[in-house]
Amino acid sequence: MRKLLILLVLLAGAVRAEEARQPEETHAIITRQAVTASRYMVAAAHPQAAEAGRAVLAAGGSAADAAVAIQMMLNLVEPQSSGIGGGAFALYWDAATATLSTWDGRETAPLAAGPDYWLGPDGAPVKWPEAVVGGRSVGVPGTLMLLEHLHARFGRMQWAGLLAPAIRAAELGFPVSARLSASITGALEFNLAASPEARAYFLDADGVPWPEGHILTNPDFAETLGLIAAGGIAEFYNGATAAKIIAATRMTDNPGILTTGDFTAYQVRERPPVCAPYRGYQVCGMGPPSSGALTVGQILMLLERFDLAAMGPGAEAWHLFAEASKLAYADRALYMADSDFIDMPEGLLNRDYMAARSRLIDPGAAHGPAEAGTPPWDEARIYAPDTTQERPGTSHFVVVDAAGNMISMTTTIETGFGSGVMVGGFLLNNELTDFSFAPEQDGKPVANRVEGGKRPRSSMAPTIVLKDGRPVLLVGSPGGSRIIAYVAQALVAMLDWGMDPQAAVDQGHVANRNGGTDLEEGSDAASYGLALQAMGHEVAIRNMNSGLHAIWIGDGVLVGGADKRREGVVLGE
Ligand code: GLU
Repeated sequence: MRKLLILLVLLAGAVRAEEARQPEETHAIITRQAVTASRYMVAAAHPQAAEAGRAVLAAGGSAADAAVAIQMMLNLVEPQSSGIGGGAFALYWDAATATLSTWDGRETAPLAAGPDYWLGPDGAPVKWPEAVVGGRSVGVPGTLMLLEHLHARFGRMQWAGLLAPAIRAAELGFPVSARLSASITGALEFNLAASPEARAYFLDADGVPWPEGHILTNPDFAETLGLIAAGGIAEFYNGATAAKIIAATRMTDNPGILTTGDFTAYQVRERPPVCAPYRGYQVCGMGPPSSGALTVGQILMLLERFDLAAMGPGAEAWHLFAEASKLAYADRALYMADSDFIDMPEGLLNRDYMAARSRLIDPGAAHGPAEAGTPPWDEARIYAPDTTQERPGTSHFVVVDAAGNMISMTTTIETGFGSGVMVGGFLLNNELTDFSFAPEQDGKPVANRVEGGKRPRSSMAPTIVLKDGRPVLLVGSPGGSRIIAYVAQALVAMLDWGMDPQAAVDQGHVANRNGGTDLEEGSDAASYGLALQAMGHEVAIRNMNSGLHAIWIGDGVLVGGADKRREGVVLGE
């Protein structure tokens, strides 16, 4: 009893840790049941975006066609999270050739940027909030070119027609969602403060955020999309829109150095999928510059020797999950970055390496923060760890079309409302703050330091799980560097515990980014706090906003789930 009392006192000290401000918080919980369909399905973070995708699929469009319509609509109705001012990663399953491809539309640093980009006049790294707001944090956007690539390769419908629903909705107006309204309030004194264009759009004449249900029109966005519909993406990368973006990033108090050369040099890259074996499945995702698939893959491989299915969800399983996460996040911090610029270890998912790392996990007691391992690679450890932490913004959607093509795409302008700089009716990203601000530590370079033309390390983890070479599951989430934990946790829920996608995305979050163990406020996960603390975890109860969307592909049936923490839906037939 005394022990319990002491634990309660300890826990009371640990609960409800306030984090640095988060424009994207969970404001409301929407209870849902899993949705089933037999022909096609879409799950996205906003009903209008899901409907734009559904209409394309109903008209015989491909998953790539649907992705164009969904993204353009998300840009309008969930403008704080993603859009053509940002970057994205997509996994595409092409049914005709039975191949999985992965596409990198990540933002890039200006070619003239160097390792001192985020150092202030005193030579010390600038503070995150000061770096975010204004043009300096803006990387060359990649989302639009990514969509154009997917459409050129896998699309069946006319490009202009796919943009039409978003153009129409921008002209006629759309109802501001409760979450958008609350997010505007959250960003008011932060990245919306110094942006007259953004304030003019998101606030009324008295400077008050638009309330839920207000019909908001966006004629500037309609005009931008009209130009892209008529002239293709050249208009954006080589034309008037590029010039407008560059001018806007230079005119702020925190000016950037982007040039037209940065825009004309931008390229979307097809990369090899990164797949981790897990209980007979192949869990595939996006490789560098994202750390998503490698870190998710490591967590799963580190857990594979434990019988999670027998344990079920609970303190015992979450302890193991947190310990595996510490080890995986330690490797992420030391080794992972844009592999076009740095040498990354080959063996981060090597079976022997993972088995040796897994033996460091004590099933009964928590370790302190983990050290990175030494994967089978000659030059391991030339880098110093990156301690940058991203704040959550971003959106994820999944689509299965009637022909069996599929897309799993995570799309972002980084933090909610990005840099706050708005041009042509859309917000520009602050993705350059995903680089390490410190270029070196103890005389060693940080792998994720800024370099000209480099892509900042991401945590985005769009995932497609294969079984016997065929997709069985699509999933992904926003959530900053906790994306990795959210996705890994949802995978364990579905692959080990047989939860349907709705139950899996709704379960309370547990995350450990190689420090304390975070449990989601107000969820079932929070009830494991005492037991985890007794095992030595430093527990904090937090608002953990994900936006998981998942589709399970069964025998003749599609089962979808949309995160209860956002207003998204699953639609299908
Ligand atoms: N910028 C983050 C990344 O690329 C994503 C931010 C988020 O999900 O909120 O990893």
